Amino acid sequence: GPPGAGKGTQAYFIVKNFNLYKVSTGDLLRDEVNKKNELGNKIKSIIDKGLLAPDNIINKLIDNILLNKNFNNRILFDGYPRNLDQVKNLESLLKKNNQKISAVISLNIDKESIFKRILGRQTCSNCGLIFNEYFYPSTSANHSCNSSFLKKRSDDNEKTIINRFETYIDKTLPILDFYKEQNLLHQINGMAKIHEIYKEIQGIKASLETWLYKLYLYK
Ligand code: AMP
Repeated sequence: GPPGAGKGTQAYFIVKNFNLYKVSTGDLLRDEVNKKNELGNKIKSIIDKGLLAPDNIINKLIDNILLNKNFNNRILFDGYPRNLDQVKNLESLLKKNNQKISAVISLNIDKESIFKRILGRQTCSNCGLIFNEYFYPSTSANHSCNSSFLKKRSDDNEKTIINRFETYIDKTLPILDFYKEQNLLHQINGMAKIHEIYKEIQGIKASLETWLYKLYLYK
């Protein structure tokens, strides 16, 4: 989905409840930025322009993740792959590591809502939960960390949002056709409420499990 579609929010709930590992290339890149070395500064300037980081950097990050046997078949990618080259690289890495994609989820949201969502976004640097200061603020009922952990991202400003959206349309949207052809794509209305989207994702998981169970019975 485009920036602000709710990928990170859903990813948080999915990994927590389905016992998976979240691999967010955005988070991995921000970790590099925080090191404040030459590579980190280069990545920061790309992120702040709303462009995609070079594929060789992303491919190396993913290669290392797939080599970790603890993650075997238990990965939820958030914001990856982001273009067709990354799709091809992922295909070959999965083949090499004898793993498969079970489902691809796309969250659809219109351009106007993206602005409202991103400009109010706050991420808790302690627990990873994502809030919105206008629509879904952090309160004592939904968040136990201190409010000083709530952070805004440097790329969550109006100018960068426009570029990130254009990058999405130009580079990322075309990958949906690839996954549609492979019968892996599930499109969800990202404008729905957080718990409604999550319920739909639970439904997708349940239908995949039924399908795998039938396959097992017929074997
Ligand atoms: P995200 O946290 O997913 O919104 O990503 C924030 C920024 O990190 C993006 O706007 C890109 O600049 C960069 N980024 C994240 N994931 C990727 C990726 N798979 N390929 C290239 N750049 C990425």
